[in-house]
Amino acid sequence: PLVLGIETSCDETGIGIVRGTQLLANTVSSSMEEHVRFGGVIPEIAARAHLEAFRPTLRQALDTAGIELDEVDAIAVTAGPGLAGALMVGLSAAKGLALAAGKPLYGVNHLVAHVGVGLLDPAEHHRPGGIGTAENGTAGNGTAANGTGQSGMRELPQNSGALLVSGGHTEILRVGSLTSDVQLLGSTIDDAAGEAFDKTARLLGLGYPGGPAIDAAAASGDPQAFRFPRGLTLPKFEGSAQTPGKHRHNWSFSGLKTAVARAVEQFEAAGKPVPVADIAASFQEAVVDVITAKAVRAATEHGITTLLLGGGVAANKRLRELLAHRCADAGIELQIPPVSLCTDNGAMVAALGAQLVAAGTAPSSLSIPADSSQPVQRISV
Ligand code: ATP
Ligand code: MG
Ligand code: FE
Repeated sequence: PLVLGIETSCDETGIGIVRGTQLLANTVSSSMEEHVRFGGVIPEIAARAHLEAFRPTLRQALDTAGIELDEVDAIAVTAGPGLAGALMVGLSAAKGLALAAGKPLYGVNHLVAHVGVGLLDPAEHHRPGGIGTAENGTAGNGTAANGTGQSGMRELPQNSGALLVSGGHTEILRVGSLTSDVQLLGSTIDDAAGEAFDKTARLLGLGYPGGPAIDAAAASGDPQAFRFPRGLTLPKFEGSAQTPGKHRHNWSFSGLKTAVARAVEQFEAAGKPVPVADIAASFQEAVVDVITAKAVRAATEHGITTLLLGGGVAANKRLRELLAHRCADAGIELQIPPVSLCTDNGAMVAALGAQLVAAGTAPSSLSIPADSSQPVQRISV
């Protein structure tokens, strides 16, 4: 199916177009610049920016794909989770387009879309001349594990799971089917991984958004310079495989943030320069170590043999490296999307929409609401 995907859950206005698992266009306009001086996304500014960016972004995506709206089989849109006002803009636009063009509407889950982007054909990410994705990432080492089903769509192997690491979520999932069966195995009990990156970057004076800034600063730092805490790793939280503790597969990142703050204070109190690169590298190592260790263990204990990585933090170089290493050791096939498809975009929404169409899922009603706290288990609405 030829599907248009619309994403407006945060500060990216994204329009993506796919044909089955083939990526035809992925146009993203971000209002990030307008939020920099506030150190975080201001919802009202984001919503207005979506209104302004929507039509040019849509036009550019259609031109890139070389299609007109009349040709699409369906329109998919992020229904949640995200900022209510920002979601409303995309959802309203999607409903209007669906009604005007007489196309079915699919309201989809943003988190599942972050995972579903991994089903796009990796060859397309590397097509010379580009498709609006500036950066080529590694397509992971497990792409061969995807079968092509009767619908012509790439399908998930049996016993698949997903690690979702984004600005607002950190979750380990069992994925029976991307269109009908996603279960939560563990999650953060406080900050999300991306949130920890953003808060720590602010503390270190590295600006916003913090993830890419820490990723870059860490490159010249020593990851062993400081030993920052790995949350919820004590035996009382984890228990054993036979008698799992309550937080065996959960994460906590708030203690880590406090530990970084204390380290910075100590240098400042002593009148010494803060070793920003070393702290950034050591912080990143702590986050990535605990994310990957717990994810791989949860996957192993739940019989997961193929793991899809998704979400903005999946762009992190050290995370991609250490997770690949640990999955290989554990005999788990890992699939990592290209960096350009990790942060918010419309292609991921279109990709999940195409899967829903191919699976014969019923379209959404034109009266669906935006759900700012939509849980990951609710794949489409
Ligand atoms: P959610 O998907 O949970 O609703 P979101 O859509 O705001 O949240 P994403 O776009 O998925 O979040 O990811 C943005 C987050 O990814 C930010 O916190 C950002 O700092 C982080 N991030 C982006 N690039 C990197 C990187 N290279 N290393 C670490 N973190 C990164
Ligand atoms: Mg963003
Ligand atoms: Fe996101």
